[in-house]
Amino acid sequence: MEEPLSAGHPVQAAIALPVTLVIALAGCAPVALQTGWNAAQLTSLGGTLQLPGDVPLPDRTEVLAGQLVIRADFPLAGQHRLVRELDGLRVDVSQELGLPVSDEPVHLYLFETTDRYDEFVSRHYPGFPARRAFFVETDTTLSVFAAWQDRIAEDLRHETTHGYVHAVVPTVPLWLDEGIAEFFETPRSSHGLHAGHVAHLAGRMLEGTWRPDLQRLEALSTAGDMTQDHYAEAWCWVHWLLSTTPERRELLQNYLTDVRRDPATAPLSARIRRELPDSAQATDAVKRHVAELAAVPAAL
Ligand SMILES: [Zn+2]
Repeated sequence: MEEPLSAGHPVQAAIALPVTLVIALAGCAPVALQTGWNAAQLTSLGGTLQLPGDVPLPDRTEVLAGQLVIRADFPLAGQHRLVRELDGLRVDVSQELGLPVSDEPVHLYLFETTDRYDEFVSRHYPGFPARRAFFVETDTTLSVFAAWQDRIAEDLRHETTHGYVHAVVPTVPLWLDEGIAEFFETPRSSHGLHAGHVAHLAGRMLEGTWRPDLQRLEALSTAGDMTQDHYAEAWCWVHWLLSTTPERRELLQNYLTDVRRDPATAPLSARIRRELPDSAQATDAVKRHVAELAAVPAAL
């Protein structure tokens, strides 16, 4: 997602019911939920939870696709191209990141109209800023909520990636969580190349108003602190690590494996400094990476 208000990231939010949510919002800002809502109930009740005056969850169609349990307001074929794509994304995420696949369900709730979706969000997240889609993690469930609109494919690739990653690495750092989701929200044929972010960063470099700083990204603790620059840069580091040399790719994969085992693993910037032969020039290398991508119009 290109706009800061439409990309997603995880936020710790305490709610009235005894559930702590990690929320990844399409474009997110920190949200303190003001009313109780136990996401675990949504799935434990088969998606039919009804509160007085409530907006029902989508339940007209249920499609099972690998790890995904998709419920929609409208007829949705199991062989719909987007369903197949989201199912296939599971293996892409696993292979690119060197992570195992999980069988933990990722629940996708697809609202037929933006009005229905907005109504649901305002009922369960009063005061919630406008979002096209978001991801919610509780101790027991991984759920994505989205309205069926023009950018649904990009939104679902982004949010479903959060689901696949959180199923195996629940404590992935905020900036990396978003960088990975931005990488995989692009169409499969783009191989993670996000034209919008390349153009944004290249423009910033021309203005002289941006230079990469991984430690600055690592210091971000809430989604609300993430600007479009941060989303674009998070994507850029992930793309640079995954798409340039086998050593860099392995470094990111090893880091994720370690974070999976030990959430207190030292930050990625420390590992880059320690392990990459050109670590001192990593920042310049990332700048060159942006410039090279921006110089290939065919790639964009
Ligand atoms: Zn996100």
